[in-house]
Amino acid sequence: MRFIDLEGQQAVDFLCYNAHDTRDRYNAANTMKMAENVFINAGTVLYGEYATELMRITASSSPNHNTIGGCCSVEMNFIRYGRRTHSCRANFIHELSKFEMGESDIVSNVNFFMSVPVGQDGHMAISESPSKAGDFVDVVALVDVIAVISNCPQKYNPACGYSPSPVQVETYARKQ
Ligand SMILES: [Zn+2]
Repeated sequence: MRFIDLEGQQAVDFLCYNAHDTRDRYNAANTMKMAENVFINAGTVLYGEYATELMRITASSSPNHNTIGGCCSVEMNFIRYGRRTHSCRANFIHELSKFEMGESDIVSNVNFFMSVPVGQDGHMAISESPSKAGDFVDVVALVDVIAVISNCPQKYNPACGYSPSPVQVETYARKQ
């Protein structure tokens, strides 16, 4: 799959599941431990709950995709910004319902193009993304997966540059 940030600074929230056993879903901690890094870049393998290699990032024109910040939700937006909003969590629930999954299947996810730098003192915060118009990330499935995305509708922090915009998703058949 290729995700293209058409206008720049647009977070794409992403989850994947082993299609043969959806309990074996993306595991951010396993992924960071194996990468020895909190950021996702070209070469990073996305590991599952059972340490399965689910997917691999094969190319990325934008650095340091996030996997520690999680997705936005109605509840978090309300306590942080005092507003009830659209959210990635609601989008995930909607998409997962197509695969007989639901809110208990949502785990800490990947946010392509979202920037959450971590300081020496451990400080972390969503900050302005370096992603520019046309930046892309390529992700290859290593087993059969169910992959769901939410094009983040966040307007109240810099995840999407305060102005959510379209992304393009391209899918390609595996080379035999
Ligand atoms: Zn979001």
